Amino acid sequence: MSLEKHIEKVLFSAEVIANRVGQLGSEITSDFSGESESPVFVGVATGACLFLADLVRRIDVPISIDFIRVESYGSGTVSSGAPRISFDLKLDVTNKHVILVEDIVDTGNTLSCLIEHLKSKKASSVSVCTLLDKPSRRKVHFKLVGIGKFYSGFECPDDFVVGYGMDFAEQYRNLSYIGVLKPEFYM
Ligand code: 5GP
Ligand code: MG
Ligand code: MG
Repeated sequence: MSLEKHIEKVLFSAEVIANRVGQLGSEITSDFSGESESPVFVGVATGACLFLADLVRRIDVPISIDFIRVESYGSGTVSSGAPRISFDLKLDVTNKHVILVEDIVDTGNTLSCLIEHLKSKKASSVSVCTLLDKPSRRKVHFKLVGIGKFYSGFECPDDFVVGYGMDFAEQYRNLSYIGVLKPEFYM
């Protein structure tokens, strides 16, 4: 059965995503074009993989790229609320501008844990660039560091979404769009 048959509704098409990613790239490029230190884009694995890959190709200043992994969701759709870093950065971010690249911000627990972690590594600033944001579900109000900004692609309705890097039980990350599964596939 084709993957498309699992999807109840498309929320953000590939074209809509590509346009918005281009705008975010331009905004970040202009914000960092005057900085002497080149920023480090840190993708939060695995969900941000496609977004990071597309975003960095729309950035027109020197940058470096790294990954970090945080576990909080398990395989279900409800956060455990206690994220932990299970795979750390390779690069030294001391005195660097870090841009955390996330697929989606929900309760804010994951980001707040990551921001504290980067603060302890003495990053000079921490920004967040998330493709999706569910502000209605926020439980933790994280504080950015230094000149750090919050970049957000789209506000997302309070549905569990998949695609463009985001999974349900490690499936559906390879969809080029973002959508909601038919109820019979959330099992
Ligand atoms: P938070 O810690 O903010 O509650 O959750 C953040 C992480 O949970 C996101 O980075 C993402 O990996 C996962 N998450 C939150 N909402 C969704 C959703 O609707 N769909 C998917 N696939 N993952 C989600
Ligand atoms: Mg994520
Ligand atoms: Mg997940």
